Amino acid sequence: MHTREACLTADRHDPLAALKHHFDLPAGVIYLDGNSLGVLPKTARARSAEVIDQEWGTGLIRSWNTAGWFDLPARLGDKLGRLIGANGGEVVVTDTTSLNLFKSLAAALRIQQQDHPERRVIVSERDNFPTDLYMIQGMIDLLQQGYQLRLIDDQTPLEQALDDDVAVLLLSHVNYRTGYLYDMVATTALAHRHGILTIWDLAHAAGAVPVDLNGAEADFAVGCTYKYLNGGPGSPAFIWVAARHQDRFWQPLSGWWGHQHPFAMATDYQPASGIRRFLCGTQPIVSMSLIECGLDVALEADMATLRAKSLALTDLFIELVEQRCQGHPLTLVTPREHARRGSHVSFSHPQGFAVMQALIARGVIGDYREPEVLRFGVTPLYLGYADIWDAVDTLKDILDSGSWDRPEFHQRPSVT
Ligand SMILES: *Cc1c(COP(=O)(O)O)cnc(C)c1O
Repeated sequence: MHTREACLTADRHDPLAALKHHFDLPAGVIYLDGNSLGVLPKTARARSAEVIDQEWGTGLIRSWNTAGWFDLPARLGDKLGRLIGANGGEVVVTDTTSLNLFKSLAAALRIQQQDHPERRVIVSERDNFPTDLYMIQGMIDLLQQGYQLRLIDDQTPLEQALDDDVAVLLLSHVNYRTGYLYDMVATTALAHRHGILTIWDLAHAAGAVPVDLNGAEADFAVGCTYKYLNGGPGSPAFIWVAARHQDRFWQPLSGWWGHQHPFAMATDYQPASGIRRFLCGTQPIVSMSLIECGLDVALEADMATLRAKSLALTDLFIELVEQRCQGHPLTLVTPREHARRGSHVSFSHPQGFAVMQALIARGVIGDYREPEVLRFGVTPLYLGYADIWDAVDTLKDILDSGSWDRPEFHQRPSVT
């Protein structure tokens, strides 16, 4: 597609084009940050009014039963599970991704204390999202049992990092910065050959790429709902636990929502059987209720069609940047190989921060990640081919004119 006209033709033939109308997108914006905060589903407005006016305002305490608040984490979990290859009863929507990492890591380590009691290594990736590494470090410090974190990097590839000392492998399915996509089936099988349990962080994968947790025989997974699933800012996260592991141990955030009979008000903790034991306390119902609006749109799209469009759009983005922005110091960070690419494209540029601020000022909203990385999230539910053309056209203009080099584009706010 070498012209905007060709992009418009592709948009007219796009089987997912109609889904865009489910979202409220601000005029004059091309939104390439759906991997950080998804957009507003149109139904969320009416749903939030209903939750606030009727369920809270009128129903009050009765709504725990009458509006289904108490069952919401499991009901939404079942719906979300259909996007990630989970069966019913394997997912709850709850807490944050960071907290769910803590719970899944604790449960995985407890299982290994029984199955492989001498193992003391947790493997992750140097390039993983920081909270994943921080949560592992916090767990190691809490346990004081000689656990160590071993990081995969250029010096230590995955195959070399996995040996019979390793208890748990914790990886992001799609890397937040580079967009690298792990082969979940092969990587999980490799870990299992060494007796290692896997935790997959699906923050940049759920709703963006095909995921089949049971097909991969994975062990644990966590992820966000406010990114590709369009759940709203800070909407609760999810946790998936393979049925075979659910009842082996409790997780240590053993709050009353994970109790078998929370309203028995018993003195002693007795975990619920199944995935409910991965709940902790009372959930933010207003925010959680809105997640369903985004999930319902995501479930309308066929995942194979969504994936094909995502790859076509990211291919187009890469091709256009390389053709039209030639001569500027942009380096592709994202894998070209389809099988290794998630749903965003990253380029590094020595002045990446200022270039991104200049793009945002022109309504092309992506984001910036240290070091020097311009990140463009491609969400096929509401982006089209002409959007990609227009975004690259703006990037080309900013680079050709040097307009990114204004003082205001070098100022850093607290969230980048
Ligand atoms: C976005 C993201 C998170 C976010 O964690 P929160 O607890 O929701 O702040 C965690 N891990 C990865 C890989 C992410 O991309």
